[in-house]
Amino acid sequence: MSRIVLDVRGLKTYFYTYEGVVKAVDGVSFSIREGEFFGLVGETGCGKSVTALSVMRLVDPPGRIVGGEVLLDGIDILKLSEKEMQGVRGRKISMIFQDPMASLSPLMKIGEQIAEVLRKSSKEVSRERILDLLKLVRMPSPERVIDSYPFELSGGMRQRAMIAMMLSAKPRLLIADEPTTALDVTTQAQILNLLKEMKRELKLSLWLITHDLGVVAELCDRSCVMYAGRIVECGTIREIFREPLHPYTRGLLEAIPKVHLKVDRLATIPGTVPDLIDPPSGCRFHPRCPYASYRCIESLPEAVSFTPTHIVFCHLYSGGIKA
Ligand code: SF4
Repeated sequence: MSRIVLDVRGLKTYFYTYEGVVKAVDGVSFSIREGEFFGLVGETGCGKSVTALSVMRLVDPPGRIVGGEVLLDGIDILKLSEKEMQGVRGRKISMIFQDPMASLSPLMKIGEQIAEVLRKSSKEVSRERILDLLKLVRMPSPERVIDSYPFELSGGMRQRAMIAMMLSAKPRLLIADEPTTALDVTTQAQILNLLKEMKRELKLSLWLITHDLGVVAELCDRSCVMYAGRIVECGTIREIFREPLHPYTRGLLEAIPKVHLKVDRLATIPGTVPDLIDPPSGCRFHPRCPYASYRCIESLPEAVSFTPTHIVFCHLYSGGIKA
């Protein structure tokens, strides 16, 4: 089995607001191996992006990491100084966002922006090297793009330019936060194919953050489902999609429209995402769960393992029996 690149253990990130303490990430644990594509999936506001920003140590006040460990190649990066952390960001862990325009400078040509990142990790910065990177991400017309400003490119080309920039530092881990959400369906498929090719060619480790289970099924080897600041189920893609255990995972999968089924109404999960200043006691999903019992209201479910990879946090399985 390949080495673990990132090991997140019991991570807690809280926001100290005037209204109260928002427990956005509350004891999250997972790991990502070399060459693995890992998906963290959940509804908007469940804490997946805050988890990634915590790993990058980019949480702004009033947010604060209050507990846990983040081991990158065995070293707890939560203990590094800010100066040491600057050497980690971009070089060891890179991050691409939903809107590449938010990360690209509108005033610099694409080639200059890639050169700036390259200079941090290598003395050899040439036009040929930048063109090679643009060709690596299958950029159409790289000779033109290298001298273009971001506003002259389409959304898909800007995302390719961002991926080229992030790969230029040869990071140990690439974090992609909703990388295809802002793109049309055709461009989305092209970017997903590109990431698959990068996996094959570069043995890239990727942490994908998304609300889209379809993208996870298409791209990832393994996934964890997050709800209200906590992980509720983890497994291989086959385990999550063929044998979902947690009622929330099942609800998410049932809510995906199926083209071969004619239905009057799409399935939904009743209720709304809880307020994380005053989250529900016990299992945070209990107000929306059709199987909730007093036990669910009173106590937090422990992890139950069905296989070395398939883990669920739900009282339905505390005897190790599948419902
Ligand atoms: Fe539902 Fe209880 Fe399981 Fe939570 S612990 S998902 S409330 S059955």
